[in-house]
Amino acid sequence: MLEPREAHVGTMTVQRALPRRQRRTVGAWCFVDLFGPASVTEQGGVDIGPHPHMGLHTVTYLLDGQVLHRDSLGSEQVIRPGQVNLMTAGRGVVHAEEPTGSYRGVMQGVQLWVAQPDATRDGDADFTHLAQLPQTSVDGAEVTVLVGTVADAVSPARQDTPLVGAELRLEAGDCDLPLEPSYEHALVVLQGRVLVEGRPVERTRTAYLGVGRTTVGLSSPEGARVLLLGGEPFGEELLMWWNFVGRSRDEVAQASRDWEGGDDDRFGPVATALARVPAPDLPWQPRN
Ligand code: MN
Repeated sequence: MLEPREAHVGTMTVQRALPRRQRRTVGAWCFVDLFGPASVTEQGGVDIGPHPHMGLHTVTYLLDGQVLHRDSLGSEQVIRPGQVNLMTAGRGVVHAEEPTGSYRGVMQGVQLWVAQPDATRDGDADFTHLAQLPQTSVDGAEVTVLVGTVADAVSPARQDTPLVGAELRLEAGDCDLPLEPSYEHALVVLQGRVLVEGRPVERTRTAYLGVGRTTVGLSSPEGARVLLLGGEPFGEELLMWWNFVGRSRDEVAQASRDWEGGDDDRFGPVATALARVPAPDLPWQPRN
């Protein structure tokens, strides 16, 4: 069982479910932020200025609300509940997430990162909007598949390593969910309360399930929404710092210098009125 920690992103307070000290990754999933429920007003909502990424995919999924995505590839895309924005950073990309200007109401969702393997992490950046995701029903749970496969539903989302990511909407009652035994899995409770193999898991908490399971028994007294994450255990050692996923301090320090120095070939401009987010100081002494 993993407790989230509170973190701040732009003007939002988020619950960071991953990474935690006891568990850094689940498959290649290496970062899970839960944001909201919060209300979007004239004054704001999600407003995260341009910031860089490398070595990861960002996967954005909303339960409520709307967010406008812009990036250094020229993408400009509103995302709504039930859709995925999948951005591949590769060697470098920059994005901003801002209010649509017209949406008012509740905002709630998840921001996920997937570590890219050595085979692709120096590759090109990319952005894909998946307007419709495959859905299926498993033992009374309605399942929306973000990435990978659940039962007969296969997401078209790119995956660089074997992965699954899905939202489960549980009815009140029991559900026996099939799992891929070569994957490790985790369940993050987004709404409501769930018993995982009889153990209660509250909203924002994560139950880590390990590898080798063919099923997991879920039970929900009043219904719940749960994020299923899984994948083949990620064999490569990661160094995560700020918005970068790398392998060494030197590599991460170089990315930070390229961002601060305005290297437009690597981290290009984004067409937004929001201010650039500066890199924090490195937590270690740079080597000369
Ligand atoms: Mn980001």
